[in-house]
Amino acid sequence: MYDGPVLDNHLHLDPINGRGVEAAEAFARAGGTHLNVLNKPSWHLVGDVEGEDGFRETFDLTVEVTEKADERLRGRAWPVLGVHPALISQLITRGYEPSEAAELMKVGIDVAAEYVAEGPALAIKSGRPHYEVEDAVWDASNDVMRHAFARAAEVGCAVQLHAEGGEAFEPVAEWAEAEGLARDRVVKHYSGGYVEGLIPSVISHKDELERACEGDWPFFMETDFIDDPDRPGAVLGPKTVPKRTQWLAESGYEDALYRAHVETPASVYGVDTEATLSTDSV
Ligand SMILES: [Zn+2]
Repeated sequence: MYDGPVLDNHLHLDPINGRGVEAAEAFARAGGTHLNVLNKPSWHLVGDVEGEDGFRETFDLTVEVTEKADERLRGRAWPVLGVHPALISQLITRGYEPSEAAELMKVGIDVAAEYVAEGPALAIKSGRPHYEVEDAVWDASNDVMRHAFARAAEVGCAVQLHAEGGEAFEPVAEWAEAEGLARDRVVKHYSGGYVEGLIPSVISHKDELERACEGDWPFFMETDFIDDPDRPGAVLGPKTVPKRTQWLAESGYEDALYRAHVETPASVYGVDTEATLSTDSV
């Protein structure tokens, strides 16, 4: 049996359209203890964003539901805030040039950095489209991502990336370092068991988790639960990380689970998931 902390490194709670804090309760009942709660893309929460205020509104909704989730857990829930890279395509449809879209997205990153420096956020979310885009859009997206690295370096936090599939992220790791951010503070969300150059946040499919457990590198476990009532089966549910954790423990991977739920959160985010775990049940 594994009875340490259990962190889902990337899940969404939608207080407006979805299950919100009830999904965090389901996670806790299944044995989950810690959550990194990502804001949903701004267009799902607040519609068209024109400037700073739209990002603040998106982040405030997420901070609020994360505080409620925090009260329902034996451990902690932290907000991870930022700008979904697909926003660039939305903005271009609305008539923005790629460079103008990038400027607006950097404003969102700046607000997220402020919520880390002065507020409750643990880390910044950024990235680049996971689908084919034209060169100007790709370049503008990389520009936003590098801005996120620079701001994270300034405020001293990690970055979660939403990006294309595959494992070849050495060039991205080099960009992070060029902006002053250590590569081991950059997390590739929705990854397989291994990513070159960055820390994988492994989507909790059994085969990918086994691959990460058998390796010796830092990793996280996540569901990317999107909390969207219109797409109930689109991603893994909120109970998946606790359930897979027990399954991995039964397979003898306790040391790897300690790496995923204690050591990697400490080295990447500077959080202590053991010290923040209460022994009382909720
Ligand atoms: Zn997500």
